[in-house]
Amino acid sequence: MDAIYQQLKQFGKVKPNEPLAKHTTFKIGGQARFLVIVEDREQTIGLLNFLSAEGINYFILGGGSNLLFSDDNFDGVIIKVTSYKLQVTKNVVEADAGVPLAKILNITMEHGLSGMEWSAGVPGTIGGAARGNAGAFGSDIASNVDRVEVWRNGEVIILSKEECNFGYRSSGLKKDGAVILSVWFKFPVGNKQEIMAKVQKNLQARQGKFPPFPSAGCFFKNIKLDKWPGKKEDLPPIFLERGTVPAGWLVEQAGIGGLTVGGAKVDASHCNFVVNVDKATQSDVLKLVEIVKEKVYNKFGVELEQEVEVVE
Ligand SMILES: Cc1cc2nc3c(=O)[nH]c(=O)nc-3n(C[C@H](O)[C@H](O)[C@H](O)COP(=O)(O)OP(=O)(O)OC[C@H]3O[C@@H](n4cnc5c(N)ncnc54)[C@H](O)[C@@H]3O)c2cc1C
Repeated sequence: MDAIYQQLKQFGKVKPNEPLAKHTTFKIGGQARFLVIVEDREQTIGLLNFLSAEGINYFILGGGSNLLFSDDNFDGVIIKVTSYKLQVTKNVVEADAGVPLAKILNITMEHGLSGMEWSAGVPGTIGGAARGNAGAFGSDIASNVDRVEVWRNGEVIILSKEECNFGYRSSGLKKDGAVILSVWFKFPVGNKQEIMAKVQKNLQARQGKFPPFPSAGCFFKNIKLDKWPGKKEDLPPIFLERGTVPAGWLVEQAGIGGLTVGGAKVDASHCNFVVNVDKATQSDVLKLVEIVKEKVYNKFGVELEQEVEVVE
């Protein structure tokens, strides 16, 4: 392992036996044998080539805001992507995978480019957001993606938007082990004042909604209306308008807001948030989530799907 440690150092800062709880918004996770912080695409590519040639297990970490790591130690290398190159040419923005979402929002606002307003207040990096097609307020990151550069099986390739196969909180990039290196966006030119007003409005809509405890954001995906098994007329009209049934509403209606297992709790006021109230473990969260799924299924016949990624 010491030889590997020496070799890893050529790709970035190496942290042996690093607690993963320190690198996730949920504050849950055992230790990684090694965590390597890569700062540009060349380091990322070099490290990926090295690890795959050596057959060493690895996992890609962005901002850690959509992850629930195992309580067990990770016997391999966590690649923490912090590549930060960001360039604007007219209405095209090229961003490295490690660029925080907040940075793209700021730079598009500065340049009067519209399209990222939904991301105000959302943590994470471009890589994590593109892979999961993060979004809010009826919009998402895919809406403005033009193309994506990825490392896949030792090759660096550019995928068109269509090839990325974006869907609701999903993409084809999830399935084929692609590591996102950079993303090109094309944004429509907008009115700066209107963009800023929309950002303010979105921030206000979020204010006070996030529980004051560590979490990974909304735990479950909302249910598309065409997947709703019951009578649509019985649903609140706003859901019909939006075309989705909020997972938080289902949990609330199932009467389990506030339910607690160990240090994990279903937030009572934002029921789609599972929060870490007191040194929760992955096992606490998973036990709680199983109860939530069962209660919601028993009441509505709907199977909740996780939005947060569980790393076993
Ligand atoms: C308070 C709070 C509010 C949130 N609100 C929202 C919201 O409104 N809408 C929303 O969609 N999400 C929301 N989230 C969830 C989260 O912020 C987003 O999903 C975010 O885009 C995840 O990015 P990340 O960099 O943190 O990814 P991580 O959590 O680090 O990783 C998520 C997944 O992406 C993979 N990944 C990361 N980088 C790369 C890369 N370069 N290449 C390939 N795979 C990669 C990881 O391996 C992992 O599988 C919220 C989270 C919190 C804590």
